[in-house]
Amino acid sequence: MISSLQHLVFCERQWALIFVERQWRDNVLTIEGKQLHERADSKEIENRPEVRIVRTLRLRSLELGLSGIADVIEFHRNGESGKDRWLPFPVEYKHGRERPDIADEVQLCAQALCLEEMLQTDVPRGAIFYGQPRRRMPVEFTPELRTTVKKLCERVRELIKSGVTPPPKYSKHCSNCSLVDECVPQIVEKRHAALYVEKLLIEIRRSMPGGLH
Ligand code: SF4
Repeated sequence: MISSLQHLVFCERQWALIFVERQWRDNVLTIEGKQLHERADSKEIENRPEVRIVRTLRLRSLELGLSGIADVIEFHRNGESGKDRWLPFPVEYKHGRERPDIADEVQLCAQALCLEEMLQTDVPRGAIFYGQPRRRMPVEFTPELRTTVKKLCERVRELIKSGVTPPPKYSKHCSNCSLVDECVPQIVEKRHAALYVEKLLIEIRRSMPGGLH
């Protein structure tokens, strides 16, 4: 799912808890996000002289193995090519503020890659609409951002194949995680550290003359 990539950018463990272990819990941030998306998901098509606006458009990329639904795709007449055509311009709605990571840009770029494959056209840029404060941020789909999206898709396949949920890395962003109670990062991290030390001690004992075998 295109929307799953933002969880992978935020935390690999959170991604695995949701998409491998099927755990999910709403918090204030996710409920606010759903409400904003419901407003964008009106399914209406709007025609203006220079822009056509399509809402809730299904997207897919066979090459990347991605699918999802775009909030809004604007089709701009002519774009920058000077030819008479409609250039797709994805717009993603987010309830909160701009994030410190690139999760939102990744999600938007994944939509652009799907559109390029589906429509056999170029999608050089899009925009993210943030609810707080209400404003639209332009996003360029640079080669680096495109490569990041492709690598994340590969990482998703690796994680699915392994079927293993990565251990937690406790940090300040855990306080914004809707799965903090399921993850219990500090407890699991300590348990992982204790198991690691235990394993190390066993290996040391085994390597000593007359040690364990
Ligand atoms: S609580 Fe922290 S480590 Fe656990 S899933 Fe959330 S962000 Fe990741």
